[in-house]
Amino acid sequence: MSSQEKLTGIVLSEFPLGENDKRLTILSKETGKISVISRGCRKAKSHLHAISQAVTYGDFLISRSRNYNYLTSGECRDSFGDLKADLDRILYSTYFCEVAEYFTVEDQDEKEILNLLFLTFSAMKKDLIPLSLIRRIYEFRILMAAGLGMQCHACVRCGTEEGLSVLSSYHGGTLCRSCAGAPESAFRAGSFMTLSRETLYALQYTAYLPLRELYSFQLQGQTRREYEAAVADYFRIQADHHFRSEKMLDSI
Ligand SMILES: [Zn+2]
Repeated sequence: MSSQEKLTGIVLSEFPLGENDKRLTILSKETGKISVISRGCRKAKSHLHAISQAVTYGDFLISRSRNYNYLTSGECRDSFGDLKADLDRILYSTYFCEVAEYFTVEDQDEKEILNLLFLTFSAMKKDLIPLSLIRRIYEFRILMAAGLGMQCHACVRCGTEEGLSVLSSYHGGTLCRSCAGAPESAFRAGSFMTLSRETLYALQYTAYLPLRELYSFQLQGQTRREYEAAVADYFRIQADHHFRSEKMLDSI
């Protein structure tokens, strides 16, 4: 018995199978993450050739059977061709897909992460803000969607909203001046990072913005450097995972 299902989503990864096939991982609006086999798609003449590429947004007709899911047809809505035009964009988009694959599961509602990924690719296409800043905003928000968001509106220790001056990624957010200086060893574990008011405000703003407006702000100079370093530290500690594509990304 098999059933047909139409899904809308983004191909996160592709893996070659045999001579002509691929296994695709798709992040879909309807069923979250799903693994499908695309038969014959590596042949240039295949009607599945264009749709069976990573970083492609489209509609996918899936035939589900007990053991495997097969892609039977598809229609491309946006191939995000601009993101495949230079090495930087290829590496960034591959990394964003890998991170999305890590933080999503099958048969769950993953619409927020799908929307985030789509809007991130759209921001890369528009090319209004630097890729390194897009990366940190994406990392910040995907952790939020995964329930690991940074607490940056109050002190993680005492709850005050005043005098927040330090980020402790290990403890999940910001500390006020007096808690950061407290001698208790439990709150001295891990690294502390001093935050300027501007960086703190930028972090709070990133947490607050609706997804559609996420890539509408710019940061410059020291604030941008500090913001990117803070999110990088927080993501490294909270994600606690080695991403294959990160090494190449960090080398550019
Ligand atoms: Zn405190």
